[in-house]
Amino acid sequence: MNELFSNRISSVPPSFIREILKVAVDPQIISFAGGLPNRDLFPVEALQKATNDIFNDDGKDILQYTGTEGYLPLREMIAADYKRKGIDVQVDEILITNGSQQGLDLLGKVLINEGDEVLIEEPGYLGAIQAFEVYLAKFNSVAVGQEGMDIPALKEALIGSKAKLMYTVPNFQNPSGISYTNENRQAVADCLRETTTLLIEDNPYGDLRFAGEEKTSFKSLLPEQTILLGSFSKIVVPSFRLGWIVAPKVLMEKLVIAKQAGDLHSNYFCQRVLHRFLLDNDLQAHIKKIIHVYGKQKLVMENAIKRCFPEQVTYLNPEGGMFLWVTLPDSLAAMDVFDKAIEQKVAFVPGDPFYVTKRGMNTLRLNFSSVDPEVIEEGITRLGKVLHDLLDK
Ligand code: PMP
Repeated sequence: MNELFSNRISSVPPSFIREILKVAVDPQIISFAGGLPNRDLFPVEALQKATNDIFNDDGKDILQYTGTEGYLPLREMIAADYKRKGIDVQVDEILITNGSQQGLDLLGKVLINEGDEVLIEEPGYLGAIQAFEVYLAKFNSVAVGQEGMDIPALKEALIGSKAKLMYTVPNFQNPSGISYTNENRQAVADCLRETTTLLIEDNPYGDLRFAGEEKTSFKSLLPEQTILLGSFSKIVVPSFRLGWIVAPKVLMEKLVIAKQAGDLHSNYFCQRVLHRFLLDNDLQAHIKKIIHVYGKQKLVMENAIKRCFPEQVTYLNPEGGMFLWVTLPDSLAAMDVFDKAIEQKVAFVPGDPFYVTKRGMNTLRLNFSSVDPEVIEEGITRLGKVLHDLLDK
């Protein structure tokens, strides 16, 4: 059947993470590999109550079709939250999507022709690489580090560039956990201002800050060129698949057509449950609880790393989010460590798939949000032993 497949789908390799995690299904394995929020923090009762309440109040309406843009009161809440943060976003610039992942797909559908250049931070979010690969994008990567984007590398990438899009996760990036400093954001905005490139600020983790100061959104620095992606997955629940895209009106018209063609609208029932939940509960208080737990889990992981990892192994210290990024000495490939770690029943994601240029062989991603503190201690202790075995030979 292979000859029947489109060029589009044939060009996308199966998810490397899914492939390697097939070996990590053993329940005995301590997994730092996933990217899951902590399920103990899901507001189960409050969502159950919100569901009952909307059935009681509006039983028929909540089961009907709705408009493509999404439930207006929910979009109004999102706009109000941006306003609270000092970011100017109008309600008609917001489209509710099936998670921010669909935002990436819609942007690909509306903007990318075969061979079009997309600038992407490296390491970068695998889901964005996959989403744009489907539209046969040609990637041009720009390195990110502790401070944010490598500005000289960005300037070089922009010389003669026709990139329509540049993809960034400036807050607690997936996979590296790093955040762009305000100076770095300013410099990135200055570089792009003279171009026609649109900047995607994908921000699913931005509210989950447990240290440091809030940073300026690209939307404030480069308002005409910035597209925002947001998500309820990490601050409420991922299963509703609800996120949003903020785009200038001309682009929004095309995004709405693309979404209409794809699925008519995001799940209206879940939009209504979520809206009711947000109406009757204090989201900021809920987020504070999440931050408290993740901050503690990160600290436990960091202290265990300091205690257990060989000193040639370094890590980047995140100020929020769900991930911590580890760099091994050049001589050690994370895939080899992975094989040995699985024998000791501990898993992580080797850094390779997050690089479009495949340069990150000696890096790995650790997730701390979904593992309890005692288990983090045990898992990092095991991983430390594996690293010592490989490096102290
Ligand atoms: N962007 C980034 C950077 C992510 O890490 C994720 C989830 N892992 C997503 C987008 C997609 O999230 P969702 O579709 O659940 O909103």
